[in-house]
Amino acid sequence: MINPEFMDLIKSEETKIYLNEPMSLHTTFRIGGNADCLCEVKSVESLRNIITLCREYCVPYFILGLGSNLLVSDNGIRGVVIKLGGKFNEINYIDNEQICCGAGVTLAGLCVAARNMSLGGLEFAWGIPGSVGGAVYMNAGAYDGEIKDVVISSTYMNEKGEIHSYNKSEHDFSYRHSVYSDMNNIILNVTFQLKRKNQDEITDRMQELMDRRRTKQPTNHPSAGSVFKRPKGYYAAALIEECNLKGCTVGGAQVSEKHSGFIVNNGGATAQDVKTLIEHIKKEVKEQKGVELCCEIKYI
Ligand SMILES: Cc1cc2nc3c(=O)[nH]c(=O)nc-3n(C[C@H](O)[C@H](O)[C@H](O)COP(=O)(O)OP(=O)(O)OC[C@H]3O[C@@H](n4cnc5c(N)ncnc54)[C@H](O)[C@@H]3O)c2cc1C
Repeated sequence: MINPEFMDLIKSEETKIYLNEPMSLHTTFRIGGNADCLCEVKSVESLRNIITLCREYCVPYFILGLGSNLLVSDNGIRGVVIKLGGKFNEINYIDNEQICCGAGVTLAGLCVAARNMSLGGLEFAWGIPGSVGGAVYMNAGAYDGEIKDVVISSTYMNEKGEIHSYNKSEHDFSYRHSVYSDMNNIILNVTFQLKRKNQDEITDRMQELMDRRRTKQPTNHPSAGSVFKRPKGYYAAALIEECNLKGCTVGGAQVSEKHSGFIVNNGGATAQDVKTLIEHIKKEVKEQKGVELCCEIKYI
């Protein structure tokens, strides 16, 4: 249980607090036990207030995006889960084909805003169900595009509540990795460099990529996207299929019949079901193919 004095101090008009909040409501897997406390912060000041108090009272915190790359334990999350709302959901056109937006903005919202401003470059991200913060943290990518191609800077808050920025090269982007993956800094906002483009061309490309997604991926079942990173020289889905694991089930968790790189929640799956299935897949692929699969999804 969290210190009641701490709970009193985090209360503010700028922070919405939910106690014993089921994380299944905040993950695309629809899985996860209760978080002791989920706080939706609306401004940099309210975020700094919580971070500072967490340090003072030794309460752990976790930054939640849209929960689309997470498997949250059935035991839930101890401490505070922080979600960025309010001012973190703003999108602003700066100049020179640049957009700056809060880390809480959805990629979908950003893609639509960029298209409406006739700015191209983000079409690849249409259909990735994450937030801007989560996308930069993960260096999300699809169809030959990655966040690293369009980010020129980001601003973050460190554990002391101080604010700093990274320029493009300081992000240390690589496949599903950024400088943020290795530390506990909180992305506040991100600036993107885009390119003037005809709106209809942007719309057509977004539509084309969404159609490809809907054809290939189990978009009508709860999941967290591709479970495994792409191993060098292979495709995880192909390896899994060659090991006859397509459709393999543990409890409510199943290797998708449509795309073997996905595990879907067929209803009532627990995090333990998914974990057991992941371990089984890793073991079989290692034994049968000699390839070590690494998880892309994060277990919390
Ligand atoms: C159907 C489906 C399809 C998908 N397709 C793709 C795809 O094509 N390509 C791809 O790359 N991914 C894909 N994903 C995975 C997922 O959408 C991405 O990884 C996405 O970038 C995660 O963003 P999020 O906001 O949901 O982050 P979360 O899942 O909430 O969090 C992921 C990590 O980011 C951290 N984080 C989030 N926000 C911040 C912040 N502001 N500051 C610091 N850390 C932060 C969290 O602490 C956590 O460690 C897919 C997922 C689903 C369900």
